[in-house]
Amino acid sequence: MKSISILGSTGSIGTQTLDVIRRLPGEFKVVGLTANTNIDLLEKQIKEFKPISVAVANQEKADELKNKVDTTVYSGATGINKIASLQPADTIVNALVGFIGLIPTIKAINHKKDIALANKETLVAGGSLVIKALKKHKVNLIPIDSEHSAIFQCLNTEKIHSVERLIITASGGPFHSYKKSDLERITPKQALRHPIWRMGERITIDSATLMNKGFEVIEAMHLFNLPLSKIKTIIHPQSIIHSAVEFVDGSVIAQLGIHDMRIPIQFALTYPKRINLGLPKLNLADIGIFTFKKVDKELFPCLGYAYEAASLGGTMPAVLNASDEVAVQYFLEKRIKFLDIPKIVRSVMNIHKIIKSPDLKDILKVDKWARVKAKNNI
Ligand code: MG
Repeated sequence: MKSISILGSTGSIGTQTLDVIRRLPGEFKVVGLTANTNIDLLEKQIKEFKPISVAVANQEKADELKNKVDTTVYSGATGINKIASLQPADTIVNALVGFIGLIPTIKAINHKKDIALANKETLVAGGSLVIKALKKHKVNLIPIDSEHSAIFQCLNTEKIHSVERLIITASGGPFHSYKKSDLERITPKQALRHPIWRMGERITIDSATLMNKGFEVIEAMHLFNLPLSKIKTIIHPQSIIHSAVEFVDGSVIAQLGIHDMRIPIQFALTYPKRINLGLPKLNLADIGIFTFKKVDKELFPCLGYAYEAASLGGTMPAVLNASDEVAVQYFLEKRIKFLDIPKIVRSVMNIHKIIKSPDLKDILKVDKWARVKAKNNI
């Protein structure tokens, strides 16, 4: 039995991870769980999965939960880090949202835990550090994100030098066929209506601006150790092909599947074993048609900014992430317009002096700096 802790167990990926565990009895033991504020759901999860301990980021909510359960309840960021490094766990599922996910990943790696990664910011902001730590502690990191899971599966036993390029597919979000004038009046409600995936708010907005695809390019660069010039994106609105790898001989291997994150979650948890989860199977005849088109980089500048930040390297990807995190929050609060999101990101990138080989302290400092600048520029 594999022992697992889940950081962010009440969110979209967290709850789906628990469902995978529920569907595979005898395979996993849940050791630790963490939540931000949703202690009602966390309490239910504690009753069902009986973890050794849990953490709640919000102090008041943590105190409230302590009175309701017998399980040890930690609180705050230190509490989350405690669960990330908790003893019996072999694997940590990091399903936290935002930059706060970076430190727990590093803590878990330092404690020699394998990582099943859904938190994007871990690799976007801290890519080089995290990859170095993985090598040093000889632990595995398996991506949960559908695109990276697809590439991981396509690469399988292939040699990385026989890769011509990675083809990361994008659903394109709700607005890929819009004109600029249509984008001016987009409301948070419209942007939160993703055509394919039900996800958390930040990632749904990032999907609408295509910043999410940019983050995935940066993650892929680190995960698969390939130059940016070998990482391409393409819009595939049906989102059945989750990504593909083209090899030097011209062969392209793609991974296909239904729209269900429980498949890549399970793959990350049971790899290299494949188990039947009992989910509906892909029916190609029902889907009928696959279409593809180029990303309009003028309409969706965030993708280009991500390539630029990745090629500049150092602390620039952390700035890209922090300024976007602030801009998305302001957009959700209806304080800025949809088209202001890339403008704010651009404005902070423009004034950032890159630190070339940052350590964790540098990244934390730059993250704070970029948030202040983003707010000022709003
Ligand atoms: Mg994705």
